[in-house]
Amino acid sequence: MSEVFVLIEHTRGRVKPASLNAIMAAKQLGQDVSLVVIGCQLEEIVTSLAVLDVKAILVADDPILTHPLADKYSTILALMMERRGAKSLVASSSTFSKDILPRVAALLDAPMVSDVFSIQRQELTWEFDRPMYAGRIRGTLSLEDGRFVISVLPSAFETATPARISKDAMIEKISINPDSLPSGMEFVSKQVRQSPRPDLSEAKVVVSGGRPLQDSETFERLIGGLADVFQGAVACTRAAVDCGIAPNDCQVGQTGKVIAPDLYIGVGVSGAIQHIAGMKDARVIVAINKDPEAPIFQIANYGLVGDLNEIVPQLIQELAHAGYEKPA
Ligand SMILES: Cc1cc2nc3c(=O)[nH]c(=O)nc-3n(C[C@H](O)[C@H](O)[C@H](O)COP(=O)(O)OP(=O)(O)OC[C@H]3O[C@@H](n4cnc5c(N)ncnc54)[C@H](O)[C@@H]3O)c2cc1C
Repeated sequence: MSEVFVLIEHTRGRVKPASLNAIMAAKQLGQDVSLVVIGCQLEEIVTSLAVLDVKAILVADDPILTHPLADKYSTILALMMERRGAKSLVASSSTFSKDILPRVAALLDAPMVSDVFSIQRQELTWEFDRPMYAGRIRGTLSLEDGRFVISVLPSAFETATPARISKDAMIEKISINPDSLPSGMEFVSKQVRQSPRPDLSEAKVVVSGGRPLQDSETFERLIGGLADVFQGAVACTRAAVDCGIAPNDCQVGQTGKVIAPDLYIGVGVSGAIQHIAGMKDARVIVAINKDPEAPIFQIANYGLVGDLNEIVPQLIQELAHAGYEKPA
């Protein structure tokens, strides 16, 4: 058993960048890394992956797999792992993998470790570091050599790049017998909030707003306005979601998205541990808060103490004059 599988997450014909970090994490577990791509009409995605230095790309391409129903996807993964004797399965931490990976682990009766940010090899075991208690402490879990499933925090690992010596990966089609797959889940509908802004989990600049934004119009004018100056994404705290100021798909933190942008600007964000758990890996953190004792200043690289209603409009105006343009 030496092959390591990486479950590739994709959307609209494009591999999610976090999956490229999962590939590099998998390479720490063994050199025989194979990618598993599940879905429908996957040609473009497979072509984009073929240039990476991996052993094989296993493709389950069937109309029945158009929607990522966890019961079907996990069954395919578990079957493939058994069939090929694969040692482990890796995916990036996301809502997609949270739905699928634990089911694979259960089907294989294998242990699972989530949100891994560092991997060490000991003599007979693997050790995985992961945040615990909303990032307050770092836990180290030790697994005996054997089959296991892990999800990894993308920001903690390098990004896989095309192989220097071009050798296209072997592409293998996985034949699907629809009747052999579970049918307990049914796709009903998907609601995607249309936004001209970049995807929050991939954006280089994120502007995040908290409870004092008061209403959704103010949130859009100040947080959206500042994000647009940087052509960045909008995020928020759970308090802002609970108050109906911002949509819940923008929530960052322990029970929201985990992001690691180049620049995070927190506006009226207190810096509660549950929020910090989702953005502490940002390269540069800027905080705007009227309370100089607000916890967010403890992790901020730059802090502005003052009223956001005065500071943010000035920032938008000054930065716009400095040459930043709103996206079309
Ligand atoms: C199990 C659990 C899970 C949770 N998960 C999450 C999560 O995933 N994400 C998350 O964000 N939270 C989460 N929370 C909630 C978290 O504990 C905090 O309550 C929340 O993050 C606070 O949001 P906030 O900073 O917007 O609001 P507040 O705590 O109200 O802070 C507002 C801040 O804005 C400042 N301020 C006020 N007015 C102005 C002004 N005019 N100008 C400038 N600054 C101003 C204040 O000084 C204060 O620091 C979770 C809580 C629990 C118990």
